[in-house]
Amino acid sequence: MTAERPEVAAAACPPASIVIVGAGQAGGWAAQTLRKEGYAGPIVLVGDELHPPHERPPLSKAVLAGTASADSLRLMPQQAFDALDLDWRCGAQAQRIDRQARQVLLADGLALPYDRLILCTGGRARTLAVPGSESVAPHTLRSIEDAQRLAPALAPGRSVVVIGGGWIGLEVAATARQRGAAVTVVETQARLCERSVPAEISAYLLALHQAQGARVLLGAGVSAFARHVDGRSEVRLADGRALACDAIVLGVGMVPNDALAREAGLECDGGVLVDARCRTSDPHILAAGDVAVSANPWAGRRLRLESWQNAQEQGIAAARSALDLPVDYQPLPWFWSDQYGMNLQIYGVPRPAHRVVRRGDTESGSFALFYLAGNVIEAAMGPNAARDLRFARRLMEQRKPVDAERLADPQTPMSRL
Ligand SMILES: Cc1cc2nc3c(=O)[nH]c(=O)nc-3n(C[C@H](O)[C@H](O)[C@H](O)COP(=O)(O)OP(=O)(O)OC[C@H]3O[C@@H](n4cnc5c(N)ncnc54)[C@H](O)[C@@H]3O)c2cc1C
Repeated sequence: MTAERPEVAAAACPPASIVIVGAGQAGGWAAQTLRKEGYAGPIVLVGDELHPPHERPPLSKAVLAGTASADSLRLMPQQAFDALDLDWRCGAQAQRIDRQARQVLLADGLALPYDRLILCTGGRARTLAVPGSESVAPHTLRSIEDAQRLAPALAPGRSVVVIGGGWIGLEVAATARQRGAAVTVVETQARLCERSVPAEISAYLLALHQAQGARVLLGAGVSAFARHVDGRSEVRLADGRALACDAIVLGVGMVPNDALAREAGLECDGGVLVDARCRTSDPHILAAGDVAVSANPWAGRRLRLESWQNAQEQGIAAARSALDLPVDYQPLPWFWSDQYGMNLQIYGVPRPAHRVVRRGDTESGSFALFYLAGNVIEAAMGPNAARDLRFARRLMEQRKPVDAERLADPQTPMSRL
């Protein structure tokens, strides 16, 4: 990917028409930003779900727990959505992009002309190609309908096997325990959330789940699923163990929905490649959210961010870019997870060369790890340390050097650093 993209001619006049594909969080923010920035031309919002733009984080938390409604996920109240005056194609799937004619072709044959196209197609839950899958129909969790299907299975007296000890798997496990279901988490790696946290935080998460009564099997591969005569399901592990349960949930990651872009010949590499102005290799087409990959200075490499923060901020950036407004989107990655009332936050991307400074102790259930290059914090994370981490974020963004000894001392308020 080249950092510089060709400019679109006639930047001074607003685009004649804008099409957004994907009516999720990024698509919703792109649409409202276009209007907020004064764009009065036609905006078509194409979404294959039957809901207006909404956020997903509560799907594995409050919505699954039954303490929040699906309606509460909406990005904005109905009146505000109506006021955007969008041509909202609800339940419509974009099937092809004709870059020559600058048209998006829908599954029903309709052609939507665009001057700018913003791809916000997100991703879908990854599935497992394991024998017996069709007989047990394992759950995945990406949509409102997925959560509504799964919720009744998480009840006292029922048992659930969650495959995957990543964020979604652990959040589902926590909610299932809170609803009284028996839970077994099966993880192929030797520790939980191995891709995104260090061993210390994996160990903390393991202890948290075990203390709440979840069984966690690490280093355990799934070889097959089977359906019992009594209607229950069975998860067979590679080491010969068999786990009987009432429901199976797959939390094994997501796959970016980049087929539209790939088939249109746009540069892709595990998602749609974009620059800091959210432009793809075609200057008339932009991308944002879970589907977009871009060079991230905090990571020192390309990243595809799967986070609430990125969906919102990159959706806004893509809309501004579509209107040729100034944009330089190179975000400090931020992600959080809630499990059993514990809130874990991650800022930045730790690298092996970083010096690690810890603040607080594991026993207290509230501590933070800071990753320093020289005296500058490059990444930070920890459970139940939101306040400290908010301060750390400021220090990171301002590139302020810190005294590592004072940083490690919980008696020194972060505000004094
Ligand atoms: C259960 C769950 C819990 C999460 N929890 C957290 C959390 O705690 N913290 C955090 O930071 N992040 C969390 N996330 C991640 C966050 O929700 C995502 O990063 C965010 O939703 C991405 O937004 P998006 O708009 O890029 O994609 P999406 O929200 O997936 O929206 C994409 C939309 O495009 C539609 N679409 C795709 N292809 C087409 C097509 N061809 N035609 C028409 N429509 C199409 C899709 O159906 C979808 O509606 C969670 C995600 C999930 C699923």
